[in-house]
Amino acid sequence: MTDGDRVETHCPYCALQCGMTLRRADDLISVEPREFPTNRGGLCQKGWTAADLLDHPERLRTPLVRRDGELQPATWDEALTLVASTIKSIQRRYDENAVAVFGGGGLTNEKSYALGKFARVALRTRNIDYNGRFCMSSAAAAGIRAFGIDRGLPFPLEDVGSADTLLLVGANVAETMPPFGRWLADQKARGGTLIVVDPRATPTAKQATLHLQPTPGTDLAIANALLHIALTEGLLDKDYLAERTTGFDDVRRTVANYWPARVERLTGVPVADLERTARALAGGERVIILTARGAEQHAKGVDTVTAFINLALALGLPGRPGSGYGCLTGQGNGQGGREHGQKADQLPGYRKIDDPAARAHVGGVWGVDPASLPGPGVSAYELLDALGTEAGPKAMLLFGSNPVVSAPRAGRVTERIRSLEFLVVADFLLSETAALADVVLPTAMWAEEDGTMTNLEGRVLRRHAIRRPPGQARTDLEILHDLATRLGTERGFPADPAEVFGELRRASAGGVADYAGVTWERIDAHDGVFWPCPDTDGPDTPRMFAERFGTPDGRARMVAVEHRAAAEEPCADYPLYLTTGRVLAQYQSGTQTRRVGALRRAAPHAFVELHPDLAARLGVADGESLTVTSRRGEVTAPARLSDAIRADTVFMPFHWAGAGRANSLTNDALDPTSRMPEFKVCAVRVERAFG
Ligand code: SF4
Repeated sequence: MTDGDRVETHCPYCALQCGMTLRRADDLISVEPREFPTNRGGLCQKGWTAADLLDHPERLRTPLVRRDGELQPATWDEALTLVASTIKSIQRRYDENAVAVFGGGGLTNEKSYALGKFARVALRTRNIDYNGRFCMSSAAAAGIRAFGIDRGLPFPLEDVGSADTLLLVGANVAETMPPFGRWLADQKARGGTLIVVDPRATPTAKQATLHLQPTPGTDLAIANALLHIALTEGLLDKDYLAERTTGFDDVRRTVANYWPARVERLTGVPVADLERTARALAGGERVIILTARGAEQHAKGVDTVTAFINLALALGLPGRPGSGYGCLTGQGNGQGGREHGQKADQLPGYRKIDDPAARAHVGGVWGVDPASLPGPGVSAYELLDALGTEAGPKAMLLFGSNPVVSAPRAGRVTERIRSLEFLVVADFLLSETAALADVVLPTAMWAEEDGTMTNLEGRVLRRHAIRRPPGQARTDLEILHDLATRLGTERGFPADPAEVFGELRRASAGGVADYAGVTWERIDAHDGVFWPCPDTDGPDTPRMFAERFGTPDGRARMVAVEHRAAAEEPCADYPLYLTTGRVLAQYQSGTQTRRVGALRRAAPHAFVELHPDLAARLGVADGESLTVTSRRGEVTAPARLSDAIRADTVFMPFHWAGAGRANSLTNDALDPTSRMPEFKVCAVRVERAFG
């Protein structure tokens, strides 16, 4: 797969992990799309321009240390000595948990694994979590509750192309992962029905056979209504319910109250559309239900996903050929990033950190006394919100994340980060969070390191380096190795990703996400390897749940869930809903894509999307500067008039910092199970910025 000047690898951005070929000529790296089962030769504009950042003038090439209030160049020895001595001092003055670690869903499997181990073994802190908590945690928790296993898609993406009926809930794939559209085109060409649930008529919704446009925060009621209709019309798979599930009686009693006329009043979705949707789902042979952030980023995100899983189970979909429920993971390694120990409550192999057997297994692989491993920490937002407080961490090491832009209630999070005694950020660009650091450690980019990623299908992929990082930049594994050594942990933190992956395989063996049979050679020889794969000589698992689920009795657990109002509903002072999301040309907090010329020109700044009727009521013209205010903050951005959005709702993308930072407004109410913040709905007031 590599001849020095040409490597086959994958896009650095989203969870589709499109196949691409990198070529080097005269020290210039170029990107070409590559045939791969997920993207089938397609790339979006983010993937096409991914190499533009490799030699970007703002690329960090030397460590930076804050002196006299300014970040100034330093040697690695100066930077790492300062980091190690300050960590030791803070842990001596307070305790080991006074140092926190914050990771990211874009880190490779090897780095995710090493970071979790570094926190527990080198720092002995329980305070580690990562930005994937803001992405996948609700679907993950619901998947574990129902199926005993959380794998985004428990079937290959190709199944989508042959679905008779496909229901997308809160998923704008046309903008977030455009090559996915090839599967939608296949599905349409075969006469399939596409139904999209979204408060906006997104480019994805505009392709749909049927678009349900609910009030933000009411997806759960829609799911319960669909199950109500299927139940009353006798459309359920009774044999499947009896043989493969538990808990249906409770669910049946609950959904009995979700009669369509009531749900129409609650959601704004007409009864006829609910009925048409239920019948299309029940009438197809191959039927797939997919959720994404629109359904999941709520303070009731776990229950909302559970409601759609209940619907899928009642129709007998999971495990049926060409059918099932799945979640569309967002970040590049959103799946792998949550399997190897970055989460506050997890050890590698998707093991629970408070499970004595899990601690014994992982402690054995790590060569440490299991009793010495810290217990569970708190979730990402709770961790950020505790920074610098009397009981909270006083220092933080942050890898591959930019919470100043991406966290909810970002103004408060920024103040918390500022209140730290010591902040270390490892990144390849000076993100808004890195700009606040005491020490910035320059890291390799995706084309400069080997490793593995796990895409939205649970398919483990190889990332191949085509060159070394520029200047003095190092890989994250080299940084962790050097830091661990300075902290007195001589062994256990190799800088070689192949060695780390070998240990990861042993640590994951026997766990839910079992990589024991996955080798780099096997990945290269095929189009990746699907976990679980416990044996190098045995098969991998492209499709799950055909015979049994991952629960102790092998049956899926149905759980009755009730709709409840959003944590914050519109009122006299804040009369509109705000929902946030993504645009085609930007990715996540924008640290990378805002610096790519073509992407910046395509999407140069934040905006406030509002319906022309609302604009008329407010006396606002297209392009006019608006102030949007919530109980947590205020932002300013130009108006973008569009009849694609409901007249009671405004939309802002969250990729920008400064005056247009949408997350200054968002609500930090958390889901009680996943601890997912309510990014997708809060109450705001909109006014012309200049009166
Ligand atoms: Fe990269 Fe995702 Fe675009 Fe594919 S769809 S090129 S993985 S950003």
